[in-house]
Amino acid sequence: MPENKKVTPQKPDPEEEKKRQQQMQRRMSFSVSYLLVGMIVLWLFQEFVLTPMLFQASEIPYSEFKQKLADKQIVEVTLRANDIIGKMKNPTPNATPAVVPFETIGSAESDSKLIEQLQAAEVSFTFQRPPSPIGSFLVAWILPLLLLGGFWYLMYRRTMGGAGGGLGSIFGVGKSKATEVKADDVGVTYKDVGGADEAIGELQEIIQFLKTPEQFAKLGGRIPKGVLLVGPPGTGKTLLAKATAGEAHVSFFETSGSEFVEMFVGVGAARVRDLFEQARKAAPAIVFIDEIDAIGQSRAGAVRFGGNDEREQTLNQLLAEIDGFQTTHIAPVIIMAATNRPEVLDPALLRAGRFDRQIAVGNPDLIGRLQILKIHSKGITLAPDFDWERAARMTPGFSGADIANVMNEAALLAARRNAESVTLADFESAIERVVAGLEKRSRVMNEGERRTVAYHESGHALVAELVPHGDPVSKISIVPRSRGALGYTMQMPTEDRYLLTMDELQDRIAVMLGGRAAEKVVCGEISTGASDDIMRASELARRMVTEFGMSEKLGTVRYAGQQLQYLGGAVEDSSNVSQETRELIDREVQRIVTEQYERAQNLLREHRAALEALTQLLLTKETVDGSAVKAALGKG
Ligand code: ADP
Ligand code: ZN
Ligand code: MG
Repeated sequence: MPENKKVTPQKPDPEEEKKRQQQMQRRMSFSVSYLLVGMIVLWLFQEFVLTPMLFQASEIPYSEFKQKLADKQIVEVTLRANDIIGKMKNPTPNATPAVVPFETIGSAESDSKLIEQLQAAEVSFTFQRPPSPIGSFLVAWILPLLLLGGFWYLMYRRTMGGAGGGLGSIFGVGKSKATEVKADDVGVTYKDVGGADEAIGELQEIIQFLKTPEQFAKLGGRIPKGVLLVGPPGTGKTLLAKATAGEAHVSFFETSGSEFVEMFVGVGAARVRDLFEQARKAAPAIVFIDEIDAIGQSRAGAVRFGGNDEREQTLNQLLAEIDGFQTTHIAPVIIMAATNRPEVLDPALLRAGRFDRQIAVGNPDLIGRLQILKIHSKGITLAPDFDWERAARMTPGFSGADIANVMNEAALLAARRNAESVTLADFESAIERVVAGLEKRSRVMNEGERRTVAYHESGHALVAELVPHGDPVSKISIVPRSRGALGYTMQMPTEDRYLLTMDELQDRIAVMLGGRAAEKVVCGEISTGASDDIMRASELARRMVTEFGMSEKLGTVRYAGQQLQYLGGAVEDSSNVSQETRELIDREVQRIVTEQYERAQNLLREHRAALEALTQLLLTKETVDGSAVKAALGKG
């Protein structure tokens, strides 16, 4: 529901996660359905091919056989250990086929006259060794199973998009799927990476080493073999690794950790071996393993269902390769890896001599965003008065990939309205689109709901304008968005902030609760639309108490448990906080939130006329910008 959206996109990268799960599912369902089909095929094979082939003959009594023999109906026989098979003339005359197979129980041993009679009847006869049970077992079971297994393997490789597919791939299982980019084809350099100056600074040494390894060898220094790039998704880790290869002018091997995790134990390890073999041949080279957490996950900890052995072998092989290769001055190979979850990595990977260089790649600051904007506006026609700095200011908390995405959306929007160039307004709409999702005008809201949303958003906007430290409002909208927000208020900080005072934090909480406060003030009634606001306000208040030491009652002590997760979902371990303290924390959080809620309500009561005016404006125009808020308050 209505939301006071600070432009902070969420990027837990659900796409990747989904892909991985889908692949697992595909594997499972493929194997299961294959097993079923396999069983059926095997059964059909035995029932209709093997059985008729071996026992197609009709069995006749021995007496009948002797009779037919006497009547010269028998054409040929094979005497086996316990029975006789052969061919006789078709009992129905002139029918086709002229001869039919038969079978009867009996043997030359039990009927001593048989041979003589056969000779007398001029029947051609042969003896046959008793069949070995192993032989028939082989034919009936092992052979088809082998065939099925081979066939299954081929199909499996196909489905999984294995290298090449077809027959050749059977022999290519252990081949690494990494793509090699030759030095001349890398095509990106640090000029294409914005806002990562610190990371680039740390990588200089690696480049120097790749370029002039002799220099380093002479001085006898030990060069790091591995560099781990750590940071949230979309911040340009892959780009940075590739650009490093571009700067050093060396080959670049790109692969992803998940490519080593296969169903068959040993395959991953073989691939690691192959990858490093290739890299050594192509040296100097950079080997880049994206999402290394897929293989490098700590071996201690949760027992996983299946796949653990494989992961462990792969990891061990990787460690062995890293230890094994000497970064000599003749053939330097540097391994770079990326992860956004360094905390799950096996400590063995991080120890000295392996990935001992860790470089943090964070979301870009204002200057960085400006650089990234410029990089990604190459080839896009921007309006002559396009305000770069304002555009950069509009995107706090965005990653490089987000900015690239917004720029692209802006170009699409401008194209859609047949414009000559991309304006700042396009850029702003693109941000909204990326942050809040597409406008969903088709969603029908009844008039009462629209009014509630309009009051709610006006409440956020007015409180933001009225508190001393509120970030200026840039836009308010009550057009529902596809991602669930029924409306939103966008604030634009004037600068990136790294330190916030207690007053500023309190103001933020007041703004967050401004929506709910407006509903209360105007309607006396409250709706479910503020749940997200309330959650964020409570969270911030709790952090003020437990992390920032901003509660007098609790003092400057950290009560928040250890954060067990680095990025994404935080798991809090608060076992060292006593029961009484916990109750006190809860009371303090409640006090802070309630105080700000009251404060927001009072502000809105004071400016009741402005609230009405802004709400009416919103109801008619649906989207207004920040100046409307000032106008409603009689400012500006
Ligand atoms: P990561 O590997 O950290 O998830 P990527 O390197 O795959 O991120 O980034 C995806 C895309 O986003 C890049 O191809 C590039 O277009 C853009 N991008 C991300 N960060 C930057 C940056 N710092 N400078 C320029 N472009 C960037
Ligand atoms: Zn809200
Ligand atoms: Mg990447």
